Amino acid sequence: MSQKNTQFGHASNRCHMCKQESLFLVIDLGMHPHSDFFPTEAQLYNAEITFPLRLMSCGRCGLLQIDYFVDPEILYQTDYLYQSSTTATGRAHYATMAESIVRRFSIPPGSLVVDIGSNVGVLLAGFKEVGMRVLGVDPAQNIAEKSIAGGIDTIVDFFGSALAKAITVSHGKAQVITATNVFAHLHEIDDSVLGMKELLADEGVIVIEAPHALPLIENVEYDTIYHQHISYLSVKPMRSYFESMGLELFDVEKNLIHGGSLRFFVGHPGRHELSSTVDSLINEEELAGLYSVEKLAQFADRVRGQKEALLSLVLSLKKQGKSIVALSAPAKGNTLLNYCHLDASFLNYATEKNPLKVGRYTPGVHLPIYPDEKIIEDVPDFCLLLAWNFADEIMKNMTTYREKGGRFIIPIPYPRIYGETNS
Ligand SMILES: [Zn+2]
Repeated sequence: MSQKNTQFGHASNRCHMCKQESLFLVIDLGMHPHSDFFPTEAQLYNAEITFPLRLMSCGRCGLLQIDYFVDPEILYQTDYLYQSSTTATGRAHYATMAESIVRRFSIPPGSLVVDIGSNVGVLLAGFKEVGMRVLGVDPAQNIAEKSIAGGIDTIVDFFGSALAKAITVSHGKAQVITATNVFAHLHEIDDSVLGMKELLADEGVIVIEAPHALPLIENVEYDTIYHQHISYLSVKPMRSYFESMGLELFDVEKNLIHGGSLRFFVGHPGRHELSSTVDSLINEEELAGLYSVEKLAQFADRVRGQKEALLSLVLSLKKQGKSIVALSAPAKGNTLLNYCHLDASFLNYATEKNPLKVGRYTPGVHLPIYPDEKIIEDVPDFCLLLAWNFADEIMKNMTTYREKGGRFIIPIPYPRIYGETNS
């Protein structure tokens, strides 16, 4: 029995990409609530649903993935609060990305660019600026409305082959199809990829950006595991998957956003020159042990060790009477907070720049969320940096707090206090 249906989702031991029943357990992180559902005060009186969160690996194609799928309607259409434009680093990244794709593939002005999971439209704004016709697709109504208000034409729906056909009729074929930090979220991955194939012009390019599974394993970035992320991408399974779908992965670029990401370039077979980077990255992944049972078992041990170390650090600070708050409340922070059970007895509150989250509570441990400015007023002794991948930018913005003696705890790749000698 490969699939077990439950009330709010289903469990499966069948690989998301190669479709073999060949998954084995890497680490069980326990039961977790939906990491992007931030309850309001009234909702705290409701029962909070939690789901199993287990990282699995495919013994056949090597894809890391979870084996419990929360229904996408629950994950994306109820009160979704993630906005991709909230950090300056993120905005600059997307502007550069649009420009570099247009330049590299000499995309003529007026060509259609479709962004899947377009969120508030940051990436498409970059394409629009360089003269492209742009169209976003995103299932979250509240987020898509912002994008439309910002002048980016957006379809509120899940992307798949039926929608791709409709877009082809209404807008024509796309020269560029982008999917940033959404490909690993796709539930109906085959239908989505068939849709991309349908919509893509002959010489067009699909650009997929997603966190690389290698730094996840090497730097113990287990907090990037949550239910929206169904798979944790690496080059080897992606190449065989696209081949099985009648497309070709012809190049991969590495970049540093989100703790280490890959940019995959996919086209119709034979339409683009094959880069040797594809083979060399697969080689690098294999040498690093990404597909090795032993190496993955070591990763699981390191995750458990990291939890112990973070709890010991927090406990020792609490024993000294220190106050600690969580600075920023990203989805991934909730995996960490819930896995380590860091509730209000350890952390006074969390803060956020995203106004949609302020006044609500973090899922699971229910820390109240205040605006970032509260930290400047209160000057807690320590801020736990949950968005550690934006540590430099965040700490730069917190100069006043640092000048008043505030310090930072960085949890990943190993828990440590930053700023004891730097402040
Ligand atoms: Zn597989």
